[in-house]
Amino acid sequence: MQTPTQPAIFDGHNDALLKLFKNGGLANAAQFSNGYNAAIDVPKSRAGGFGGGFFALYVPSPLDLATKFDEMSKAQYDLPLPTPIPVEQALPVVMHQAAILFALEAQGALRICRSAADIRAALAAGQMAAIFHIEGAEAIDPELHNLDVLYHAGLRSLGPVWSRSTIFGHGVPFRYPATPDIGPGLTDAGKRLVKRCNELRILIDLSHLNEAGFWDVAAQSNAPLVATHSNAHAICPHARNLTDRQLDAIRDSDGLVGVNFAVAFLREDGRMLNDVPLAQMLRHIDHMIERLGEDRVGLGSDYDGAVVPKGLDTVADLPNLRQAMVDHGYDKPLIAKICHENWLRVLEKTWGE
Ligand SMILES: [Zn+2]
Repeated sequence: MQTPTQPAIFDGHNDALLKLFKNGGLANAAQFSNGYNAAIDVPKSRAGGFGGGFFALYVPSPLDLATKFDEMSKAQYDLPLPTPIPVEQALPVVMHQAAILFALEAQGALRICRSAADIRAALAAGQMAAIFHIEGAEAIDPELHNLDVLYHAGLRSLGPVWSRSTIFGHGVPFRYPATPDIGPGLTDAGKRLVKRCNELRILIDLSHLNEAGFWDVAAQSNAPLVATHSNAHAICPHARNLTDRQLDAIRDSDGLVGVNFAVAFLREDGRMLNDVPLAQMLRHIDHMIERLGEDRVGLGSDYDGAVVPKGLDTVADLPNLRQAMVDHGYDKPLIAKICHENWLRVLEKTWGE
């Protein structure tokens, strides 16, 4: 079936929990169901056919997003990595955001999915499917006790770093133009983290790792390599994007990349300006299909965490993206793969169910 709101779009990254955390937190979680000034809420999701995705728990650095976006609108930039955040500071934030996620499930806004079968059931029921994901492992202790506890609470995906250093590794800075080859790889604790994630079958997200960290995960992990929200460096030479060599390694592992809507990673000039035609996003998807094949490309919107193209401002605008794919000549099976089927395939393989 293909209507303006079908197939459902299930994607690799959103910051809806951060948005709620900053807008009154748990006490105001009901605004997600009622609708509020955000890219993702229940009414907009119904209107646009948003099926959910990876809901990131993320500890914000004390830096002003407006200043960051302002700096990134320039022709060149090199933002330093923010200061590391100790576990005792990170854990309460992650607990609060987890509580928001559970509250959203309790109010019937979404279903927390622990298997691909859960996601299929949620999508079939027209329910938003949510993966409990942590972006940046600051809340995990070196002994990994918190990892085990969070897994039992529903955690199924983890980025060892955001663009910041942790005890596990080092993030890639927001630098343009630049390659992702900036800084050292995983620490010994980071290698233990990869091993434990493999044992628990928690997906390891490569999106904010620098290149050395990427290759360390590729060498250590027995799971498909996944970058939940990253774009093609060959089209936009931003440090946050993936080189063709990295894309080839993801293909060889039968992994997946979710194409990011953030304009700084889409535009050839790397600038954080939203006048980006959807054709520019299609260029990235074309390149990914060329390197990865049709089965290893998905979406990773970054909604509520990034500046996105005009005309794709919220999930209610997702019909414009489906239409752009039709206009670009993609056939129905390919559009269904990009919208959610490829994500389901790689999650089933990673989680084993
Ligand atoms: Zn991110």
